[in-house]
Amino acid sequence: MQRRELMLAAGLAGTAWLAGCRADPAPLQGGWVGATPARGHRLRQALTEIPAAGQGPLRKTSVLVVGAGVSGLACARALVKAGIDEVTLLELEDGAGGNSRGHRMAGMACPLGAHYLPLPGPEAPEVAELLHELGLARHELGRTVYDERHLCHSPQERLFFEGQWHEGLLPPAGDAATLDQYRRFGRLVDAARRELGFAMPSSRARWTAGHVALDGQTFAAWLDAQGLNAASLRWYLDYCCRDDYGAPSAEVSAWAGLHYFASRHGFNAPGDRDGEREAVLTWPEGNAWLTERMAGALGPQRLQTGRTVLRIRPERHGIELLAWNEAADAPERWQAGHVVLAVPLFIAHRLLSSAPPALQAAAARQQHAAWLVANLQLKGPLLDRLGVGPAWDSVVYGSQALGYVDAMHQQTRPHPGPTVLSAYWALPRAQRGALLQDDWQGWARRVIAELQTTHPDLGEQLLRVDLARWGHAMSIPLPGVRGDPALAALRGPQTGRLHFAHSDLAGYSVFEEAYTQGVTVARRLVASL
Ligand SMILES: Cc1cc2nc3c(=O)[nH]c(=O)nc-3n(C[C@H](O)[C@H](O)[C@H](O)COP(=O)(O)OP(=O)(O)OC[C@H]3O[C@@H](n4cnc5c(N)ncnc54)[C@H](O)[C@@H]3O)c2cc1C
Repeated sequence: MQRRELMLAAGLAGTAWLAGCRADPAPLQGGWVGATPARGHRLRQALTEIPAAGQGPLRKTSVLVVGAGVSGLACARALVKAGIDEVTLLELEDGAGGNSRGHRMAGMACPLGAHYLPLPGPEAPEVAELLHELGLARHELGRTVYDERHLCHSPQERLFFEGQWHEGLLPPAGDAATLDQYRRFGRLVDAARRELGFAMPSSRARWTAGHVALDGQTFAAWLDAQGLNAASLRWYLDYCCRDDYGAPSAEVSAWAGLHYFASRHGFNAPGDRDGEREAVLTWPEGNAWLTERMAGALGPQRLQTGRTVLRIRPERHGIELLAWNEAADAPERWQAGHVVLAVPLFIAHRLLSSAPPALQAAAARQQHAAWLVANLQLKGPLLDRLGVGPAWDSVVYGSQALGYVDAMHQQTRPHPGPTVLSAYWALPRAQRGALLQDDWQGWARRVIAELQTTHPDLGEQLLRVDLARWGHAMSIPLPGVRGDPALAALRGPQTGRLHFAHSDLAGYSVFEEAYTQGVTVARRLVASL
């Protein structure tokens, strides 16, 4: 069939499915997967309803890390590498990885959360070292060479704009005035980079009065003040904020809006430095490829999953913890010389019998975005529209959803076949309650309806929808969060036996921040032990 006929077929098939759907929606296969909110909510009852720790053996360890997300795994891994053997990680879920966990549908791996890692720059040597150790990078003739199999294959990204797919996510400029705004924004990013300095992870750049000024206003207000109002530029920048921070440009700080570009790849207007697309590492299961390897190296003795830590109390001889063993449905007592809290700050605050003032202040200021990740198992490829062919990441201009990635994109198979599409939604905070309470089918149908605007034949190919909900997915870099002195105090060395390592300490969440926090705390501990 020619492309035009395919399009027509797609349109007709989709109309038929939709018509059927209106009369009698076919039952969907699928359900909620991933995080178990009930375990986290156990914390709310912990102080009143859990019996006081007194019974059962007291388990002892030198360093106890609470939470096996990227930060906790990085910390435990660095401690063990430095020769500290007595390290225990307690994780609430039955698997490690936190927001960087994976899933499988009909044998196909797919992500539940984080799905890519940009190549680390010079300020992220810890991440670079990990990639070398995992065999993803090697030195060759003085250069770092990455394993081609894990670099995102081309075409990387495409945008559905004015009836067809375009390569890349930046909307075509259309007219000279818009192109001029694209270029001007690119120059402003370059100037911010040069004059202020930005780094990934962010703590590797200095924090100046210029950063404070950016941190004190929203990105949208800053763009307005620069006269950058072209609709396609503003949609794109808003999309980037929602995609990286889980909130729109009207909510995140101007520091965050610029950091997104200035700490990594800059902003390239069409025609400027064309072809310099940011290289990223990606896997069918997303960043779970990394966390599964980090967790595997620790072994089941050190990594104890299905343990919800409920209470932490500093005592004279060390720190005492009460955890809930989910499989045994019973409490467990632990004692540790040092405890690293690799959990979101609002959870750390709940766990501590008396939280330090900096933790109280930082936890009160932070707000978290809610996310929905829908994995859709398809029996065959979707018919395509005009323009660029299927890419790893596909986004629709103007949509409130964030697009989808194709889990089978990295497979080099001669003909497209069954796959899983992972659709990402960052939800307004007001919808967190509905995300936790509403029926999964309602959310699945919203996701399907949004995807059908570009793929009307989706219903023909769809076999199952598995949904992951993240009620407190990531800290939003609202104005004032990044520069919060309380956060800076928690990032610095701690004098007692309690330490903090989580992406929340950066005020926003990406792998590099979480990983570097974990390694930094481990290094301090090694030096002090
Ligand atoms: C939908 C989504 C997509 C994302 N995409 C990307 C991406 O593509 N690239 C990227 O770099 N980043 C992405 N991120 C950001 C991602 O959050 C970070 O990369 C990283 O995984 C954060 O790790 P962390 O250790 O800081 O936190 P978390 O992942 O929050 O880890 C905290 C851990 O603590 C555990 N825990 C909590 N309470 C307790 C308790 N009481 N007892 C025991 N354990 C507890 C949790 O279960 C969890 O495992 C995404 C995030 C989401 C939600």
